[in-house]
Amino acid sequence: MSLPQIAVTGHAQKEAWQNKVLPPVEQLNMNVWSVPVPFPDNPMRYTLSYLLLGDGEAVLIDPGWDSDVGMEHLTAGLRQAGLGLSDLTGIVVTHFHSDHLGMAARLRNVSGAWVALGEHEVHRLAAYDDPDRFLRAHSEELTLWGVPADRLAEVAMDSTSLVHVKNLADPDLRLSDRSLVPIKGLEMRVITTPGHSPGHICLVDEPHGLIFSGDHVLPRISPHISLELPGPPNPLADYYKSLDLIAFEDEMEVCPAHEYRFIGMQRRAAQLIQHHRERSAEVLGVLNRNHPDTVWDVARHLTWSRGWESLRSFSLRLAVSETASHVVYLRSQGHEINVPVTGPHRANIR
Ligand SMILES: [Zn+2]
Repeated sequence: MSLPQIAVTGHAQKEAWQNKVLPPVEQLNMNVWSVPVPFPDNPMRYTLSYLLLGDGEAVLIDPGWDSDVGMEHLTAGLRQAGLGLSDLTGIVVTHFHSDHLGMAARLRNVSGAWVALGEHEVHRLAAYDDPDRFLRAHSEELTLWGVPADRLAEVAMDSTSLVHVKNLADPDLRLSDRSLVPIKGLEMRVITTPGHSPGHICLVDEPHGLIFSGDHVLPRISPHISLELPGPPNPLADYYKSLDLIAFEDEMEVCPAHEYRFIGMQRRAAQLIQHHRERSAEVLGVLNRNHPDTVWDVARHLTWSRGWESLRSFSLRLAVSETASHVVYLRSQGHEINVPVTGPHRANIR
């Protein structure tokens, strides 16, 4: 079934995306600028950071991956808006992933700006206080999911992959659902949209007709919804609810954190819901037909864009944790499924 299409508005961004180059800095209105920040060595290529100008305030949404080249691009973008780094007064981050929160710590150091995350976002630093305990629980979980012993080292996170997570900024502010971000002269409302991360938020600027969607809704790719440690027990159920919440209208311009801007939040939410429902149906088909014993077994019977055999390390970890999120979702919908997903190790990691 084909659903109504969205209307792309970030034409220069879409062209840049297709040509595999960085899109230009753009001024969207008197108060809002779009500043692409390179995401080195990643197929997403960039994070779209947004600069909001209030009364004597300059606030960045999602400053992007922490790198020198990213810092150069941010500095140049701010200069185009007539500002320097030290003029920043705040940093709002849609979720804790490193391609969004990464640069916040460095920017806070040079500007003294506050850093804000959603009230339910993972307190990642606490979970990493005892990295050995975390890594033990993580590898117990992967083993429970049927990751073969000889692939465990490849699939699991290790202490080096924790390093950049450990350096992420601890927020100064926690933003609650439906509250206004404290920026004088702007009306930027927080909508809590868990799913892609436990405490993801979107920001709605109704007076200017803009929705900043982070990774919750992107125009082309569908965000990963993974069962995470630590994390809520049924992220896919959360994601469906969050799509309903954000699709309250269809005419505002959507400013995502990757790819390009568009109009048609309701249309895109409907496509994303359809995509995930089809995937759940595929998982259910495998469960009924192949009688798999583990999440790994389910995953290897599913279709993957470049084939299951081509998945390695990080991609493979995403693939199994995404499959796990479908299994727990289907179980919550009343399907009797005997594949083990959660064990006692979860209780030790919050
Ligand atoms: Zn992202």
